[in-house]
Amino acid sequence: MFPVAIEEYRRPKTLVEARLALDGYDPDDIVLLAGGQSVMQAIKARMVRPRCIVDLQDLAELRGMSRADGLTIGALTRYVEIAEDTGLTGGYAALRDAAQHVGDRQVRNRGTIGGSVCWNYVASCLPAVVLGLGATVDLLAVDGKSRQIAIDDFLIGPLETARRPDEFLVSLHLPKLGAGSGSAYRKWGLVTDALPVVGVCVLITLASDGKIAAARVSLSGLAAGAQRAQAAEFILTGSDGGDAAITAAFAEAAGAADAQADKWADSAYRRQLIRTLGREVAETALQRARAGSTGAKP
Ligand SMILES: Cc1cc2nc3c(=O)[nH]c(=O)nc-3n(C[C@H](O)[C@H](O)[C@H](O)COP(=O)(O)OP(=O)(O)OC[C@H]3O[C@@H](n4cnc5c(N)ncnc54)[C@H](O)[C@@H]3O)c2cc1C
Repeated sequence: MFPVAIEEYRRPKTLVEARLALDGYDPDDIVLLAGGQSVMQAIKARMVRPRCIVDLQDLAELRGMSRADGLTIGALTRYVEIAEDTGLTGGYAALRDAAQHVGDRQVRNRGTIGGSVCWNYVASCLPAVVLGLGATVDLLAVDGKSRQIAIDDFLIGPLETARRPDEFLVSLHLPKLGAGSGSAYRKWGLVTDALPVVGVCVLITLASDGKIAAARVSLSGLAAGAQRAQAAEFILTGSDGGDAAITAAFAEAAGAADAQADKWADSAYRRQLIRTLGREVAETALQRARAGSTGAKP
């Protein structure tokens, strides 16, 4: 299908220009374009019918990662840049795990972390990963006011976020994660690098006695969208991270998950994936945390 007629295409060079570029239209009639990997399909299918497109791709201010008091990732940072950043180890390693397997090369070369989080598609990887890593979202409104929200409050449900139509996602900030932190993400899809039928992200922080001081677990691929698995977090936290704790944690997560049946998998299969992937991912996250805490290469 072809899109309905679009009246205007605007391509600002700075964030200030981008705010001005929203002028003259109701924010609901404007689409902000990042990598275009999701929204262009929706426009072609006429699910989204903008009168004006504001293309963000020239906004250098929204690109790249910086490491000051944690990790700040510009909204326009592409998957390929995250996938190739070998400095993303330990607690941040899940970002690379996910970015390396998003779609195909074209999607990774064009798609952005900000686009993925704003679109919040039911079966996408990055919303679940940034949820698992406890990100804070930095938004800038057209009137110049900015606000920061915890990712738990930003992701409302499939294709829904707390972003208002006149707000830009500027960046995602991940808290500082020390040497005893490790994270991992893995998805299972029908073909290599497909959207996840189920994906699991685990972030572990170790205490000085080697026990798990804190754990965050999130899931992708479920009908309600990216979500925390708090039952698993509860079991892992305070445990020794042994076999029994991990098995119990993901048995609980699988039991608590509202796992839908659809043409890709039935709910029993999805629950099984939560158990098996969860186990693998937790073990990888723990290994990375332990390697970091002993000074070995994570
Ligand atoms: C073939 C294919 C395979 C895929 N496989 C996977 C996969 O395995 N895993 C996965 O996670 N995803 C997958 N995706 C989806 C992919 O991750 C998309 O790139 C992503 O969802 C959207 O990012 P984008 O930069 O292209 O955003 P766009 O499509 O340009 O925009 C998406 C939405 O976000 C809004 N937006 C974008 N940036 C901003 C901003 N800075 N501020 C405010 N609003 C903004 C736009 O207005 C739009 O509503 C796949 C996509 C395709 C086409």
